Amino acid sequence: MTVQESNNTARETWRAVLGRLELQVPRSSYKTWLSSTNGLSASDSEFVVQTPNAFVAEMLDQRMYSLISRCLEDVTGQRMEIRFEVASNALPPKREAPPSGTGSMGTEPLPPLEPASLPPPPANRPSYRRVGLNSTYRFENFIVGSSNNLAHAASVKVSENPGAAYNPLVIYSGVGLGKTHLMHAIGHQARLASHDVLYSTTEEFTNEYIRAIREGTTEEFRDRYRSADVLLLDDIQFIIGKEQTQEGFFHTFNALHMAGKQIVITCDRPVSELSLLQDRISSRLAGGLVADIQTPDFETRLAILHAKAEQIGQQFPHSVLDYIAGRVKKNVRELEGSLNIVAAYVGIGSLAVNGKSESNIDLGLVEEALEDALKDSPRRVSEEDVLNAVSRYFSIDKATLKGRKRDKATAQARHVSMYLLREEVQLPLATIGRVMGRKDHTTVIHACKRIEQQLEADTRLRRDLMNIRESLVA
Ligand code: ADP
Ligand code: MG
Repeated sequence: MTVQESNNTARETWRAVLGRLELQVPRSSYKTWLSSTNGLSASDSEFVVQTPNAFVAEMLDQRMYSLISRCLEDVTGQRMEIRFEVASNALPPKREAPPSGTGSMGTEPLPPLEPASLPPPPANRPSYRRVGLNSTYRFENFIVGSSNNLAHAASVKVSENPGAAYNPLVIYSGVGLGKTHLMHAIGHQARLASHDVLYSTTEEFTNEYIRAIREGTTEEFRDRYRSADVLLLDDIQFIIGKEQTQEGFFHTFNALHMAGKQIVITCDRPVSELSLLQDRISSRLAGGLVADIQTPDFETRLAILHAKAEQIGQQFPHSVLDYIAGRVKKNVRELEGSLNIVAAYVGIGSLAVNGKSESNIDLGLVEEALEDALKDSPRRVSEEDVLNAVSRYFSIDKATLKGRKRDKATAQARHVSMYLLREEVQLPLATIGRVMGRKDHTTVIHACKRIEQQLEADTRLRRDLMNIRESLVA
């Protein structure tokens, strides 16, 4: 083989390896660390990968070596040493610099693919314990899809520019959809830029406040909360009906907001339900943003499962992950739980990361394993369920939904029906057309596209869809 041929082979091999890695690594990590690498050369014993800079090389070598090595072995059928080589036209290595061309994720620390080897928090910063951040909730392992891209983008922005982007940022969704995860990710990112971050659940906040009043230490309480550059207050709905705590929160909120400090709040119900609170802080909500997280669609659920499977160091056949993604829809926590159950049930959960044990997990076993756990969970959503839910929600009867009436409200509800039939029931387009009163499949495509576009900006529609989806899984 000529050198040229060997280089071509290396390039192709590496592309195949990247294909595998893409399925196994969280999307943001993939983009940040792997997407601009190349296969350079391959010999019997060594495979050389080119990286855009030294930072990426170091990262891949130290953090992803075993995973990459495994994928390379899968592709080539042989075990090789891997060497990461910085492209010769690259800038001189800057140890602290983020990799070039990686967008907002570039400033992240090394992703937590192998949590055991995470570096300890820098000594000159408050410890994680005091700050209260969970070290595994980071942007790199947050899977972004259409259900959460708004909240994710807002969180990234806020973390990069606390106090300046949206203030306050309110993240709102049902339970188990990633509010806390995003909030902690903001905290980690802000700490990297040496901002003073304080995370508290609203329950802790309430308890501390009440204790401070009782013990006459409200001064300390105030100082503690008001010294933060970034205050992360999780599950604000806990404050509903607690007038005194709302008072305390209101003053803290105002003091921080006036000082240009960042406030991030999560809530598991519509902000409108926090009426008292909203009245009092509404003048300040103007500069803020309420970003919702919807229940994840099939594709996002599948991506999350792939990432979690990688995290627990286990490969599952695609059919198994497909099945779980199709079956478990309510939230990400349930998705994680189901994967763990399947892993444990088939007795593979504890296998070493390096063992290849894709093998004999069969679907029957998986269904059996999940049957018990999911027996209270809604069965698959049917087309009738969707039509009933939409009809009820918009107060438009089903015949009209399927009919030809073209006023705006009816047309919109019809589009929503088609969109949900595709997303929630995974019906083929032609079938959706038939169900919706003999419509052409291009009409269905058009309807789905329209809804997708509107969802980007129309918060009202986002809320409608969230409510309808919730009624589907309730
Ligand atoms: P919430 O605060 O909305 O109730 P959490 O943030 O606690 O939800 O999320 C529940 C679990 O699901 C956590 O383990 C979290 O890491 C995981 N999770 C949620 N959304 C995602 C996502 N988009 N990508 C990866 N993991 C996620
Ligand atoms: Mg939470």
